[in-house]
Amino acid sequence: MGRNASAIQEIKARLNLVDIARRYVDLKRNGPRWVAPCPFHQETKPSFSINEEEGFFYCFGCQASGDLFDFYGQINGLDFRETLEQLAEEAGVTLDRGPQRQAPPARRCPSGGSF
Ligand SMILES: [Zn+2]
Repeated sequence: MGRNASAIQEIKARLNLVDIARRYVDLKRNGPRWVAPCPFHQETKPSFSINEEEGFFYCFGCQASGDLFDFYGQINGLDFRETLEQLAEEAGVTLDRGPQRQAPPARRCPSGGSF
């Protein structure tokens, strides 16, 4: 933990949750917030809202909530690592990938199979 903490901060500083979310949902201005039908559950009323200043979203219907990383990961079905890599690329932020990058997954041969 902490290896990419500065990268995460940099990504949040460069990318706007509203700009990202707008690709997936039809956001409308509502006072200080942006609202839309929630992309995480079936509905027609706009329960989903974004606080642009704080960079957080919340849904009154299904209680989905979080920041830019949570939104992007959930809507694309990514784990945190994948979310971080994709958003870093989009933001033009270089990640510290660490020393162990190109180790392929070890192939396991099931032994003792009796066909
Ligand atoms: Zn919802």
